[in-house]
Amino acid sequence: MTNWVIKGLRTGVKSTRYPRAEETAAGCSPGLPAATRLPSDLAEMIVARCPTGALERSLEGVDVDLRRCVHCFRCTRGSNCTVDWSGGYDWAGFATERTGAFGPPFGRSLHILVVDTGDCGACLSEVKQLNNPYYNMHRLGFFLTPTPRHADVLLVVGALTEQMRLPLRKAYDAMPTPKRVVAAGACALSGGVFGRSFICSGGVGEFLPVDVEVPGNPPPPLAILHGLMVVAGRKPPASLYRRVENSSADEPR
Ligand code: SF4
Repeated sequence: MTNWVIKGLRTGVKSTRYPRAEETAAGCSPGLPAATRLPSDLAEMIVARCPTGALERSLEGVDVDLRRCVHCFRCTRGSNCTVDWSGGYDWAGFATERTGAFGPPFGRSLHILVVDTGDCGACLSEVKQLNNPYYNMHRLGFFLTPTPRHADVLLVVGALTEQMRLPLRKAYDAMPTPKRVVAAGACALSGGVFGRSFICSGGVGEFLPVDVEVPGNPPPPLAILHGLMVVAGRKPPASLYRRVENSSADEPR
């Protein structure tokens, strides 16, 4: 016992300091494409490169719908033209303008039920990291629960397959109110590369009232943590649609 205490004192706290301070460890986030000012011919070309329609032409370049981005990096690793890339991980936003976060006292401690509706394993693996000593979501009052009866938040990952529609609805209906739904990852937000097909019905938002959306494919643990902070009302939401800002001073590159 004494040895463990001495070891603990020597090692110090190893958990991330987020959200009290920014996390700067290398590889903590893959970043995201950013709205970019481009001449129309290059904008046309780069929009055609995106496999999911996440990039859209705008008057001054390309805008980005983060719900659709599957992090294929085709728009940033091309030879002659790339979009800007932004770092960070505070990506989660409200799904609609009417969405509200939990206020006190619910926001101080949340129990979360995770439902995999057709995940490849990537988003689920990132969610799992939240329980490890580094991300340690328990220090923030967030706990996973296996039962919808105790859940405040339904965290959905994966494309919504037909077979999971009924179990998802049952889990949602069994949760006490007030309750919130967080959809994490491009597949849960828009269907990702599967889109709308015979097996998949697009985003979870078409089936349940989603409150908070976390983009990324998969979203890194800190982005999911940000989503939980947003739903708890302890962090402000981000915008999931990024536009080129109008500025007559800047010329297209
Ligand atoms: S990284 Fe995202 S925005 Fe860029 S091409 Fe791939 S899916 Fe489209």
